[in-house]
Amino acid sequence: MKSIWYKRFDCPVCQAQFRAPRVFSEAIRVSRRDRDLMPHYEGVNLLFYDLVTCDRCLFTAFEKEYIKPNIVAKSGRFEKLKSLTKRAKKIYSGINLGEGRNVDDAIAIHILGASTYHILDQDRELAEVYLRLGWLYRLKGERQRELHALGRALIHFERVYQTTGDLDAVQRALFYIAEINRRLGRRDEAVRYYSELFRRFKDSESVYLKMARQNREEIR
Ligand SMILES: [Zn+2]
Repeated sequence: MKSIWYKRFDCPVCQAQFRAPRVFSEAIRVSRRDRDLMPHYEGVNLLFYDLVTCDRCLFTAFEKEYIKPNIVAKSGRFEKLKSLTKRAKKIYSGINLGEGRNVDDAIAIHILGASTYHILDQDRELAEVYLRLGWLYRLKGERQRELHALGRALIHFERVYQTTGDLDAVQRALFYIAEINRRLGRRDEAVRYYSELFRRFKDSESVYLKMARQNREEIR
């Protein structure tokens, strides 16, 4: 079975039309999840393809930034993104942007994605990109870099928690604030945020609450 197909995109930064690999939903097989819900896949790893990179200028973002390019087109940010892509081309010209990517390609792509969302100043996307970057380092067995990336994700999950009214986003942010603190060895902070998660979402049977109850048990 084929797991990859190519989708057409228009780059909001350099205006190139290009095709980027996407994963067929039927090809996605999660074999297990870690305690922070990091998915492990059988076959193609979806984490390698969650961001879209323009093969001409290396602008990298989630699909929605290509579908609604108005955020990118806003003045001030646009020029910054253009100079980012110029620098990126010098450093990252060797990444495989097609199929058959490896973990190093995916790490470079997520670093590019983080740079994009720093310029766009979007905490929710920064939290997600750094979380995935941490997971990619975990796959490689690079523990210090993993914890560093998770620490960056934590900063942005905290900002999401403080600023959003979207309850699903609050629940996800609280779970990751607690869980990343637990992984960083900050016991009191982890306990505090797990308690806050249980207090605010006590009737929820979501995957976050189920995993949080197990993880909280492990903190002594
Ligand atoms: Zn481009």
